[in-house]
Parts: sequence; structure tokens; C-alpha cells
Amino acid sequence: MKIIKFGGSSVETPKNISQVFRIIQEKIVQGDLAVVFSAFGGVTEELLALAKKAQLGELNYQNSLQELEKRHFTLVDQLLPFEKRAEVQAFIVERFKELEDLYHGIFLIKEQSFRTLDYVASFGERLSTYILSEGLKAVGLQARYVDARELIRTDDRFGQARVEEKVTYTQIKSFFSSHKGLNVVTGFIASTAKGETTTLGRSGSDYTAALLAGALEAEALEIWTDVSGVLTANPKLVYTTFSIPQLSYAEAMELSHFGAKVIFPATMRPAMKKNIPIYIKNTFEPQHPGTLINGEVRYEGLIKGVSSRDQIAMLTLQGTGLATSGKILGRIFDSLAEAQVNIFLISQSSSQHSICLAIPSEEALVAKNTLEREFNFELISGEMEAISLLYDLAIVAVVGENMKHDPGASGRMFRALGQNNINVAAIAQGSSELNISAVIALADLQKAVNALHEAFFLSELKVLHLFLVGTGLIGQALLHMMAQQQEKLRRENQLDIQVHGLANSRFMAFHEDGFDLQTPYLLGPKDQAMGLEKFLATMEEMNFSNAVFVDCTASQELAKVYPRILEARVAIVTPNKKANSGALSRYLTLRKIAKRQGVKFLYETNVAAGLPVINTLQDLMLSGDTIIRIEAVLSGSMNFIFSELEKGLPFSEVVALAKEKGYTEPDPREDLSGMDVARKVVILGREAEMSLEVEDIKVESLVPQELQSPVSIEDFLKGISQQDSYYAQLLEKANTGGEKLRFMAVLEEGRAEVGLKPIPTTHPFSSLQGADNMILLTTERYHDRPMIIRGPGAGAAVTAAGVFADVIRIGNYMRE
Ligand code: ADP
Ligand code: ASP
Ligand code: MG
Repeated sequence: MKIIKFGGSSVETPKNISQVFRIIQEKIVQGDLAVVFSAFGGVTEELLALAKKAQLGELNYQNSLQELEKRHFTLVDQLLPFEKRAEVQAFIVERFKELEDLYHGIFLIKEQSFRTLDYVASFGERLSTYILSEGLKAVGLQARYVDARELIRTDDRFGQARVEEKVTYTQIKSFFSSHKGLNVVTGFIASTAKGETTTLGRSGSDYTAALLAGALEAEALEIWTDVSGVLTANPKLVYTTFSIPQLSYAEAMELSHFGAKVIFPATMRPAMKKNIPIYIKNTFEPQHPGTLINGEVRYEGLIKGVSSRDQIAMLTLQGTGLATSGKILGRIFDSLAEAQVNIFLISQSSSQHSICLAIPSEEALVAKNTLEREFNFELISGEMEAISLLYDLAIVAVVGENMKHDPGASGRMFRALGQNNINVAAIAQGSSELNISAVIALADLQKAVNALHEAFFLSELKVLHLFLVGTGLIGQALLHMMAQQQEKLRRENQLDIQVHGLANSRFMAFHEDGFDLQTPYLLGPKDQAMGLEKFLATMEEMNFSNAVFVDCTASQELAKVYPRILEARVAIVTPNKKANSGALSRYLTLRKIAKRQGVKFLYETNVAAGLPVINTLQDLMLSGDTIIRIEAVLSGSMNFIFSELEKGLPFSEVVALAKEKGYTEPDPREDLSGMDVARKVVILGREAEMSLEVEDIKVESLVPQELQSPVSIEDFLKGISQQDSYYAQLLEKANTGGEKLRFMAVLEEGRAEVGLKPIPTTHPFSSLQGADNMILLTTERYHDRPMIIRGPGAGAAVTAAGVFADVIRIGNYMRE
């Protein structure tokens, strides 16, 4: 049995809800499941806000209540088929009638007790879970709506009731043993022995799910939310967070206690007692592993995360009496617990003359009054000075098991705060030695969290600033890969890649802080029209050190501006071969400028996509080898075409298929003319220090004269069917001679030839399949048996991967 819980952020809109349903449908085939839902996103907040309005006598709470009811109706309309709606609508109408009465009561007596507030808040989960269970039925699951007030028993401390675990577990077990199937349970709510409604505290649905897991000894508890696990800091405060792969229960507890809202602290208890693993998963990125919380203690890194809480107040007790009475702390804890005040942090000065308590602002007055009553005698006698109360504070905490072993954390923490001029009002190290926390001014909170996050996680981080032109297949694939690897690169390679400029042939856009790679940016008419001059000028103005221009086009025009880009000390990474296969003088100039300006010009994907051909050649040359002969099948598209042809399809259809699969250049004639291969051969030759020009190469073109440009691509694709029988015959001839057809290049003694050749079936090229490339390098050292490089040599994914590898290579050079 697995317990899976979806928070309000996962069930905010119909689109999100269908994603949730998909996840449940996928999980349910894997084994038993119980689902816990929170109220629809923002509903609890709104229910409580309306109570406040009513209490203050603001009659417009009535309109807001209608709006809220409407929101529920709208969701029903979108989730349920017409014939199922009436019953659910009646349920909603009835609940909202009751709410109206409740609010009216509050409005009349101008008072809202915790008891009433709990009852009011309970409607959020009752409505959402009922509607969602009906929605699950509508998608074909046998869901049962379960009101958790029947299962979870608490005391009657309304607002943050305490769970009576024994009764609760018995009730859960007996319910589940007599109600098999998919139980869909309201989060957050519970009831007292007398049957009064209570809640487990804000965000308490996580706890509900953990209680079910504990009682049923579930194999796992999954908390599905809107972020990919517990992050190294609150993403609303820090831009460069990443997800923490694993936490011990204690670490997760500390992080959440100090404000990581993504999981409710009490959740840890039931799971920990039964050693049930907790997974924090992202509803909107289900394939991301998220965070695993379990009993394992892994000492990785100095700390695991930075947490923070705002709206903190601090009470300070001072006086000679504090030093003498050892029982003071006990009296503070007991009296404040009695008054339901939460203490986040307690710090005692070494002289014991003062004690500071950090507590939630809204509990500050109650706390102060309580302590004044408790220490009435000491205050009158003068043993204690007047209790002071400071507002507008915050707490920051760093958390991790490793702090027990490595004393470096506190030094680093206070250095980071000090260097950023952040005053610390109080410090505490938790008794578990898993956290160090500090009280600071609320105004400094964001700065403090960022400073700490940087000090602990990013101090080694190097940033590459990318400007990408070309958002076609390769550009898109590259952006996608960078988004996927972003977190890992930051964490394991201390490399951050930020994309500041994006352009295709029509539009361009810039982002000073870098585009959010996780939500792909779509260029469109809302953006500026693309102008190369403007693009380059903006890139130069932004003036980043470690800037990289990535050209994912096949454009001649772009290749012409490479010298200017390199002059501006911007590195270039590109699969575009136009620059390197143009005039030899240009090839040499580009290298000269790059060297002079100390920037990289990388183009591994000019030949054979991501296969390590250029790098290998460069390494061979650098290490003093001499290239004798290069034989190569260098066109993935041509190899695809001729290996597919063997399967019996007509030539024209195979060409169309290759284009459709993205194996050819946008205009397949670039491939069929042999020009694309010729350009690659020129580049290979130049890497082997041959002074080659494209014109020197003997190229056999497969494009008939009458179909050459200016004939359009469409007309060419139609016209090419005239060639079908010619190739069918050619193939048959080769077959009968025990040969295969391969479009290949041979480079030897400064001469190069490209064309369609019959080769014996014993030749290594004859086994080539699909879009694969193969390069045979015969050198002085690799003489008797040539070095063979073989693999997919075309396609957006492998090309993008090669471009990505070049980008990362630049990141690695930065470190040297
Ligand atoms: P749910 O509605 O799913 O219960 P919550 O809003 O309660 O979601 O919790 C998820 C949110 O917690 C995230 O969107 C994020 O803004 C916030 N958060 C704060 N600190 C952290 C952290 N360290 N890691 C992850 N999320 C955090
Ligand atoms: N709906 C409740 C809240 O907003 C409980 C929860 O979401 O976990 O606090
Ligand atoms: Mg939550």
C-alpha cells in the first residue's frame, strides 16, 4: 500500500487536476493506493480570510463567498460529465449554505473562535476531496470519498489539535480493512472524541497522509506538490536552488521546522516510527526523482539546506534572577506550551543573564502576557527586568547531519552574514546539532538566505552566459537538455548555464537574469523582430565575461560575423559548418582571432554530429601523429537513404522520409548534391593540416540538373520520383555483384573524392545502418588497423548533445 497526497498547488486548475488524475491512474495499476487531497489551491486561505472580514463587519464577505462557490461549480463543470453534475452541485450548495450561516454568525457576534475557524476551514478539504473523488470516478476509477473526521482523533485544542495516535490508528486500520479499493481521504481535518471538527494546523494534509501511512504500515508515502522535492532553499527567495536528492528524517524535520513549507514537520513522526520512506515529488514534472526522506544519514556536503521563517518576534528575559534559578527554562517552556505558543528558537547568553525566545509574531502578545504572569514575582522583586518584545524579525537556519562532525558550518555561516552587513540578534544551535539558526531583521531576510545559499552551495559556481541563435530541432533539443541537466551541472560540476539571448530567423528576445529553462520560452510576434546587428549589439552591451554564442543554424550570414563575435571575446559553439568550410583564409583567421582573444571556437558537431571526430583528430595532431588516409561515411542522411533503399522503398520516398525524420538539412539537396559531405571533408582535411578548398574536392552530385535551385524544395521532392527506377536498377546491379551502395569520402595525399560507390560486403562500411556515420583514420601510429569512429552521425538529439558537450567543455576551460 502506498499513500499519495496532492497539495492545493497540485489541484488548482482543471489542467493541473487532469495531470493529478493521470498520475493516480498510472500508480493504481502498480498496487494498492490511498489518496489524500488538500483543499483546492488557495481555498483554505480564502475561507479564513472571509471569517476575518465577517468578524470585522465587512459585509462584502458575502460576494467573496459567492465567488468561492462559483469556483467550485466551475471545476465541477470541467471535471464531470453533464449527467453526474447535479448530485455534486447539490452537495456544494448545501455546504455553502452552511458556510453562509457560519459567517453570518461571526458577523453578528464579531467574534471568531478557534473552534469556529477549524470548522470553517474544514469545508475546503471536504469540498475538494468529494469533487475530486467524483472526478476520479468519471475517469473510470472506483473511488470512495472518505471524510477523515471518521478516522483521525485529536484533542480539543482547536487550531492545532494534537493527534491521539492510538485511537486514530485503530480507526484507520478498521476502516481500511472493511473498505477495500481506492479510498480518497480529506487531508487536514480530524475530530475530537465528542465529534467536533478540528484541524491539524495549516499545511496539515501532509500529516494526514503520514498518519494513514503509519497506521497501515504503507511501503511509501508520496507528497506530490509543485516543486521537484525539498530544495536547498525556498525558491521564492533564492533563484539558484536545486533539489536535494536525500534527507534523513531529522534533517527534513529541521528544514521544515524552520520554514521549508514543502513538508509539514509533524509528518516525519509517523513515518519515522515505522521507517516508511517519504518521497517529495513534483506533479508537473513526475519523472524527476524529487527528494527521498528516510532513516539513512548521508554525510554529503557541509549542510543540506537553508531554511527561513518570516514574521518572527523576539522576547528577551533579563536579570540577575535568571542566573540563579535553574528551573527558569522549564517554567518558560511549560507556561508557553500551556498557552499554545510555538517556540522556534531559544538562546541563552553565556552569563545566563538573558534568555531570548523567537516566536511567531501573531503569538507574541499572548506569550509576553503569559510570561509576565508566570514571572510575576521575579518582576516585582526586581530579579527580572521588564520583558522586552521586538517585532519584524526573521529566522535563518542551516541544516545538515554533517554539522555534528564538521565544525566549519558556523564559521562559514557567520562570515557570510557578516560580509553582507547582516546583524544577528540571536544565535542558537539546535540540541540535535543538526541546525544553526540566527535571528535577523525581517528586512534582511532575502539577502541573508541568498548569502547563505551562495556561501554553502554556490561559492565554486561558474556561470556561462549563452546567446542562442536558431531554435529549430537542434536548438530546441539543446534547450531541453540544458533544462534537464541544469541542476546536476550546478551541483556536481559547479557549472551554471544561463541563456540570455534567444533568436530564430524571425524573432529575438533577451533576459538579463537568464530565461527560466524549466519553462520553455516561445519566440513569437510579442518579441522584437530578429535583426542580426541588433542581436550582436545587445550581446556585446550585456558584456558578460564567459559569454558563448551558440549558432544552431545552417546560415551563411551568421558564419560571416564570427570574426566580430570572437573579437568581442565571446566564445562560439556551433554545428554550422559554413564558416569552417568556406575559404581557407577565413578558417585560419578565425583560429587566429580566437587565440589572440583567448576565447574558444568549438565545432565538434560540424562533422558526424556528436561523435568525437574533430577532437580525436586534434588530439592525434597535437600528439605528433600524421594522417595518411581518411575514409568516411559522413552523411547520416545519405547513409540512411541508401541503407533504407535496401529495404525496397522507392528512392523518392526514402528521401522524403529522411527529411521528415530531420536527418537531412532543411533542403535535402544540400545532402544529395554531396556538398554537405564535401564541406565536412574540407574541415576534416584542414584539421589534418591539409590546405583544402571545397573546389578541390571531386564531388558526385545526385541532384539532377533540372531539379537544382531555384526549383523549390517541394517541387524538387516531387520531381525526384523520376529517379526511382534508376536507383532501383543501380541497387540491383550492386546486389547481384555481392556489393552494397555507400555514399562515401576518401581523403589521401591532399586529394579528396566524394561519391556513391559500390563496396564489397567485407568492407567495414557495408555493415552501417540507419543514419550512422563511420570514419576510418589511417595514421602513422594507427597504420595496420585504422582507428574506427562509428555511431549515429545525424539527428537533432545527438547533434544537440554534441553542442551541449562543447558548451560544457568551455565551462571546464574556465576553471583552468
Ligand atoms: P502544497 O500545496 O503542495 O502543499 P505548499 O505550497 O504547501 O504546496 O509547499 C510547496 C511550496 O513550498 C513550494 O512551492 C515552495 O514555494 C515552498 N518552499 C519553501 N521552502 C522550500 C524548500 N526548501 N524546498 C521546496 N519548496 C519550498
Ligand atoms: N488546506 C490546508 C491548508 O491550506 C491544509 C494543506 O493544504 O495541507 O493549510
Ligand atoms: Mg503543503
